[in-house]
Amino acid sequence: MGTITTLRCISCERAFSQHEIEYHCPTCGPRRGTLEVLYDYDGLKQTLSRDTFGGLRDERTMWRYLPLLPIEDRRFIQPLRVGWTPVHPFPALAAEYGLADLYIKDDGQNPTASYKDRASALVVIKAQELKRKVVACASTGNTASSLAGFAAATDLDPIIFVPKAAPEAKVAQLLVYGAKVFVVVGPYDVTYDLATEAVETFGWYSRSDGSNPYIIEGKKTAAFELAEQLEWALPDIVLVSVGDGSVISSICKGFDELLTLGLIERAPQVVGVQAAGSAPIAAAFEGYTGGEVSFADIEAQTIADSICVGKPRDIIKAVKYVAKNNGWYITVTDEEIVAAIALMARRTGVFPEPAGAAPFAGLIKLVEEGKLSGMRVAVMVTGNGLKDIANAQKTVGPPIVIEPSLAAVKEHL
Ligand SMILES: *Cc1c(COP(=O)(O)O)cnc(C)c1O
Ligand SMILES: [Zn+2]
Repeated sequence: MGTITTLRCISCERAFSQHEIEYHCPTCGPRRGTLEVLYDYDGLKQTLSRDTFGGLRDERTMWRYLPLLPIEDRRFIQPLRVGWTPVHPFPALAAEYGLADLYIKDDGQNPTASYKDRASALVVIKAQELKRKVVACASTGNTASSLAGFAAATDLDPIIFVPKAAPEAKVAQLLVYGAKVFVVVGPYDVTYDLATEAVETFGWYSRSDGSNPYIIEGKKTAAFELAEQLEWALPDIVLVSVGDGSVISSICKGFDELLTLGLIERAPQVVGVQAAGSAPIAAAFEGYTGGEVSFADIEAQTIADSICVGKPRDIIKAVKYVAKNNGWYITVTDEEIVAAIALMARRTGVFPEPAGAAPFAGLIKLVEEGKLSGMRVAVMVTGNGLKDIANAQKTVGPPIVIEPSLAAVKEHL
């Protein structure tokens, strides 16, 4: 279990001890003052090698990385199998696109069918260690369903705030898992502010993305897995979709920790893919020249509900970490995202929700621009397609309806 040395403010770099602070630097406030969780890396360097890194428990879940996770009490680890999601190679498609390799890491295969499970699994443990009763979050849908799913078998009471536009399947998940659900008449950014107010007023434990520093700790495990699953031959490029900016920050942090520990010599370049109508992080990155990050909130609009975020809460890390990583940002249109859902499903068998398809749309775009030729590329699929069938249906025609006769079959062959 990880020995945390400090929680450090991402903006002013002031260091706090783990138990003196919960969510953000008091000077820099929320968003600018999000906290980085730092471990005793010198100590870890002594004990961790490529051979021992994931082998501490014979565990095909994200819990194989306990030395780099902020868990104090293993009793709270749930039996649900989270992480260690498959990495599929697609050599023929790679050749067609002029790539050396193409991999898809399918995080839609987590227990509640999204990448968010990595964070919720961890935050639910922290909540129990801290003897909290209520865990709460604002969510476009997946953070919520993962929190509800991982709280289900515990004594914690999950309280969830989702925007009116959340896809039906995600809201159904919440209700089935038994969470208290508030559907807020307003967009995600407004929903988030309300949830924050409620958390502060009622003293709940927050799992809203960009609030709790442990969220990124859970999410970074996908980077560790990619290294191990590809036997330390990491790709050149990792593409991932971006809303609040937590997932991309976590992937960058994961690779950065592998560098710090001397386990890899070079990190993949991480490319953030935003929807064109919801791209404030890409815009902030564009104008970033080091030092303080300047940004502007927008009114976001995209069919990819999971990344429809105009006021991203982890924007500072998402800009600074990607700059440090040497990565970059691109945007794709809703039309490109919708097309990528069907294209990806047909060519790979992996069915993504719109936000899960966005990095594949980004891949196509970069391939067409000739920016990836000869490279080894991994695409992170963050959510399963069954979470939002309404948008998937836009990409396909209707099925063939027939009378129950062979003649009818023949007629349509
Ligand atoms: C949350 C989410 C994202 C984006 O993650 P952020 O941390 O908000 O940037 C992408 N895809 C899916 C499916 C998600 O649920
Ligand atoms: Zn600060």
